[in-house]
Amino acid sequence: MTFHILTIFPDMFASYLGTGILKRALASGRLGVRIVNLRDFAGKSGVTDDCPYGGGPGMVMKVGPINAALDDIKGGHADAFVILLTPQGVKLSQGLVENLAEKKDIVLICGRYEGMDERVAENFVNAEISIGDYILSGGELPALVVVDAVARLLPGVVGDEDSVREDTLSRGLLKYPQYTRPAVFEGMAVPEILLSGDHRRIARWRSQEALKRTLARRPELLESALLAPEELEELKQIRRKRKGS
Ligand code: SAM
Repeated sequence: MTFHILTIFPDMFASYLGTGILKRALASGRLGVRIVNLRDFAGKSGVTDDCPYGGGPGMVMKVGPINAALDDIKGGHADAFVILLTPQGVKLSQGLVENLAEKKDIVLICGRYEGMDERVAENFVNAEISIGDYILSGGELPALVVVDAVARLLPGVVGDEDSVREDTLSRGLLKYPQYTRPAVFEGMAVPEILLSGDHRRIARWRSQEALKRTLARRPELLESALLAPEELEELKQIRRKRKGS
């Protein structure tokens, strides 16, 4: 899987991509990231933005350089899936990330300033994606969010694949609480059961805690979570207890 990131700030990516899991994924060839400088597609002037028609504050990114950069990418990767990062897009979710992880080439277009000439979204884009209901200064952080979340799902990228399977939201549930040494810190003890060595009881405790936590913090997730019959039964009991208390 290769990401092609269109940006006017190509230097922003090196540090994050050069560290940890993403660094290893790139080195192993399991992930590819090409940073495309939009200014290289803006003719001699290198200008990628202009004033908005109709007046108003700020600058708008021009359609021409983006179209030229997309033509260049599509020359070699005709099926590339093109994403515009925008706070007006569909909100990124783990389900959407799983979907994107199936693609071979993904183009991420990073906006800046007041945003992008609307003709980009209307004509050249397969999806508009937002990383949340807040406004950032540019699409570069959202692009890295998408790359990171998708890369974790690619085979072999995260060393221990169980950890990806058990991540929060991987089955629509929040993850159970985690602890590490020491067993008691300033009087605060780790739950006894985790020290018991009884793996069946530990698995049951974790499943119950994941359900309790999801019910308390994100109850709406339970409507679409993929629960096994025993988890559904567990959930019924947790709900009953909560009503009773
Ligand atoms: N004026 C625009 C609006 O009201 O929709 C916001 C422009 S924002 C300052 C500049 C760029 O940052 C956007 O074009 C987009 O690429 C990116 N951006 C900002 N917030 C984002 C978010 N929550 N999700 C995805 N991209 C975002």
